[in-house]
Amino acid sequence: MATIDISQVSKIYSGGVKAVNAVDIAIRDGEFVVLVGPSGCGKSTLLRMVAGLENISEGTVSIDGRVINKIEPADRDIAMVFQNYALYPHMTVFNNLAYGLKNRKTPKAEIAARVAEAARMLELEPYLDRKPRALSGGQRQRVAMGRAIVRKPAAFLFDEPLSNLDAKLRVSMRGEIRRLQRRLGTTAIYVTHDQLEAMTLADRLVVLNGGEIEQIGTPLEVYHQP
Ligand code: ADP
Ligand code: ADP
Repeated sequence: MATIDISQVSKIYSGGVKAVNAVDIAIRDGEFVVLVGPSGCGKSTLLRMVAGLENISEGTVSIDGRVINKIEPADRDIAMVFQNYALYPHMTVFNNLAYGLKNRKTPKAEIAARVAEAARMLELEPYLDRKPRALSGGQRQRVAMGRAIVRKPAAFLFDEPLSNLDAKLRVSMRGEIRRLQRRLGTTAIYVTHDQLEAMTLADRLVVLNGGEIEQIGTPLEVYHQP
């Protein structure tokens, strides 16, 4: 669990494009915040700045009061789930789940226990010895989620994680992500261009337009105005 404080954050790309302009969002411990808006509104850039994948041009992002700009990206207690899953094709599901922990020199027994726990939560136990190519889209997505869970991070960052799935699977995975996030109590920032997905998932929605906050509030406040 963690609070994330995004304060007056802007991004100006080298070409001069101001992708994000003076954004303020104070995210509470365990809160599920969804960034929503049309393509090009700056969602992904904002998420990537929190993840440390993109330099912050102006402003600060703090996690539990620590300015993350000053923490090495690898040391940030944050796990990202990508749209393309980013699984290692030559590794088994077990090793895909274990990889990040091995890199952090986690003891073997601890790795095995955490992988087993994540596999149980995500119903991946029968597939631990398979390679990603032998999995369905939904199973791959669950492995991607598992890789984030095993780290026990303070926060999850989701970048359109369900957009490669068919409509039916998207709905069930959406429910699964929300249940897991509630159960673990992990603070989450989730990017989507899908309003329905945003409404179903969010404790709080941030509607971005042209790099700026257009609206911020609960789904009810944002979508059910008189
Ligand atoms: P979204 O995730 O909402 O689709 P992005 O954050 O990807 O929006 O993009 C916001 C704006 O920044 C867009 O105008 C996009 O073209 C621009 N942009 C994104 N990445 C880069 C980049 N690496 N270099 C220059 N401009 C970029
Ligand atoms: P690599 O070839 O990448 O080193 P291995 O397949 O040898 O990976 O496995 C690395 C570690 O993970 C070993 O300790 C192994 O026992 C454990 N491991 C691999 N697959 C499983 C599995 N399905 N269940 C439990 N432990 C596994």
